[in-house]
Amino acid sequence: MTILTFDIEDWFNTHQNRRHYSGQIWDDLPSKVIENTGRILDLLEKHNKTATFFILGWVAKKHPSLVREIYNKGHEIGSHSYWHHNPHFITPDDFAKDTKLSLDVLQDITGEKIKAYRAPGFNLNLNDNWAFEILAENGIIIDSSVELRKKPENIPVTINTSKHKILEFPLIKSIFGFPYSGGGYFRAMPESWLNYFFKKDDYHLLYFHPRDFDPDMPSTNLFSFFRNSLNRYNTAECIKRLDNILNDYDTITLFEAANFIKG
Ligand SMILES: [Zn+2]
Repeated sequence: MTILTFDIEDWFNTHQNRRHYSGQIWDDLPSKVIENTGRILDLLEKHNKTATFFILGWVAKKHPSLVREIYNKGHEIGSHSYWHHNPHFITPDDFAKDTKLSLDVLQDITGEKIKAYRAPGFNLNLNDNWAFEILAENGIIIDSSVELRKKPENIPVTINTSKHKILEFPLIKSIFGFPYSGGGYFRAMPESWLNYFFKKDDYHLLYFHPRDFDPDMPSTNLFSFFRNSLNRYNTAECIKRLDNILNDYDTITLFEAANFIKG
């Protein structure tokens, strides 16, 4: 099972920056999310594939036409929070407010109930019951926010809440302790390693950001030297790498994966 997902955020909407929280200056930075998401949508159209798009509420509020374009092309829409906070750096109350805000924005634009969620940076743990309770209260039934060192026996992992079960599709780390199936690590790894990891297992959660495909990825002193370097590394090649994966693997969306398992 190879699941194709994207986290739609602008190149500066990350939590990995020196000041930790940079939301107050996002409006002043040059946006590249439309241009870079366009590269993703073109590639998916070429392969006639649909995917799950976790969209940051802040991006949706600023660029509602981008959300409509993704939705009208038949892709699944999920929430990637509103402010891209690590859930462990904010209070449960603020997590609840952030989740609701992002869902309200996305639901207003699409007219559809949003039922999938991905936390910024895959920063939930399976035992974060407080967070899954809040997600369930907000109607989330599919989650993809947890990074695991080892593949669990059953995927999706079933998470029980007082409201309903949530199906968790985790990201699995490689033997080196970092993920291989998306983002900076997918770009930075030699292709022979990628091929090895993709052949080795039968479950892959692909995850990319628009910035992964930006051949002119900017840098900023908001980020560490490491973060700037990783953000800029091999972005020009990434579209070709994903193109190869889409040629070689039948990818599915998260809701297709959930139905596949249930069926
Ligand atoms: Zn993100």
